[in-house]
Amino acid sequence: MDTDAKIALSEATLDPRDWSQVRALSHRIVDDAVDRLSTVRDRPVWREVPGAVREALTAPVPRTPTPLAEVYQDVLDNVTAYPMGNTHPRFWAWYMGAGNYTGALGEFLAAVDGSNLGGGNHAAALMDRQVVDWLKEIVGFPAGASGTLVSGGSMANLIGLAVARNAKAGPDVRERGVAALAAPLRYYGSDQLHACHRKAVEVLGLGNQALRRIPTDRHLRIDIAALREAIAEDRAAGMAPACIIATAGTVNTGAIDDLDALADVAAGEGLWFHVDGCIGALLALSPEHHHLVAGLERADSVALDPHKWLHAPFEAGCALIRDAGAHRGTFAVTPEYLQSTSRGLAAGDWLYEFGLQTTRGFRALKIWMALREHGTDAFGRLIDQNIAQARHLAALIDEEPALERLAPVTVNIVCFRYRPRPMDADAVRALNTEIMLRLQEEGIAALSDTTVNGEHCLRVAIANHRTRTADLDLLVHEILRIGSDLTGG
Ligand SMILES: *Cc1c(COP(=O)(O)O)cnc(C)c1O
Repeated sequence: MDTDAKIALSEATLDPRDWSQVRALSHRIVDDAVDRLSTVRDRPVWREVPGAVREALTAPVPRTPTPLAEVYQDVLDNVTAYPMGNTHPRFWAWYMGAGNYTGALGEFLAAVDGSNLGGGNHAAALMDRQVVDWLKEIVGFPAGASGTLVSGGSMANLIGLAVARNAKAGPDVRERGVAALAAPLRYYGSDQLHACHRKAVEVLGLGNQALRRIPTDRHLRIDIAALREAIAEDRAAGMAPACIIATAGTVNTGAIDDLDALADVAAGEGLWFHVDGCIGALLALSPEHHHLVAGLERADSVALDPHKWLHAPFEAGCALIRDAGAHRGTFAVTPEYLQSTSRGLAAGDWLYEFGLQTTRGFRALKIWMALREHGTDAFGRLIDQNIAQARHLAALIDEEPALERLAPVTVNIVCFRYRPRPMDADAVRALNTEIMLRLQEEGIAALSDTTVNGEHCLRVAIANHRTRTADLDLLVHEILRIGSDLTGG
């Protein structure tokens, strides 16, 4: 027996005994994945998870081994067979990207090599920096700005709002806490603000009341005059206005606040200017629509979401902060067990000093590979394609007497309802909810719903590189069919 074989018998490892078997299974897993993704259009968008699968997914913790091939079969039977559906061309619910295969390969490679992006002197850390630099360049931030890849837009917004708090607080909030504030800080955003901002101000210790929701105009953009009044009113009441949160692409309707005007207000009032660009910051890549986010480059901080319009596999968000010192100053601590050295593994930057996580996954690779493969121009054109598709859908709705559009289409979100004749609010809501559920249950399309100007509506958000215009024709056709079935013709 050779030495390696003896060690293999006496000491345990998670590595396979027989790599050749694992290699063969891995090839099969890749083949199956490619088969699934290349035929995704032929399957239902979504299916209810059957009882037997639910049951299987409550099995107790496994104490003993199972061959990997069997484990994989369980995954096929119980997980991949019942996906959420966002890789399907007719998934338009809530707001998320459709993923991409190259990105999935990036996730795999990142996991195999296992680098921890908390920091250190290794190539993955340099690539993490590079991707942040690319995103800075895309939104028009200066080279000296900083940023960090995080799990998604909610975390990216939290990072931006935390730096804003510390920069505008006066006393040292890190040391003394919010109790040391001379006056309560106030943040301002529109009444269309994403819910993550509420969570952020709550967890920052400022409280939900610190976040003033300013009314919106008929395009559902923040009303600038009302914002100015609110700031003046708060100052008169002894509060400390600290931060304006602009939304570049609201989650309800895709409305884009006037970023230049808000940058002016923030500059004039001495406030931090944060842009929630989870939907719209990447419009900066669009040949036809980049003007919609003019002023983005003036922000103090921007939250954006590569797992939306860059279609990175979940999760990937990014916070960009103009003032790198303020950014690092909000999160950096140097514990005794993470000291830098001038050479070796600890000679690199500590990337954990720019956010809340210590261990960080190698999120950059999946973004980097897809950007390199396609180039940013291709992503810009895909953004324009989605916007053109949303306009096509809006035109179909406007032509169809039984359908009614409830909000302007700024970019890629369409809000509408089926209302073949005058009906009271409860009835039309119940009817549209039923249409939405049948579209899901029949596997035709995944839409979600929302309320705009007090009216319940169906909502189609097209951040999907697999959608074709004909899919939207089919959607309208199916809504009319189901609607007419439900209302007796
Ligand atoms: C999606 C979204 C968020 C939250 O981002 P996650 O990636 O889901 O955490 C925040 N703001 C807006 C406008 C969004 O569309």
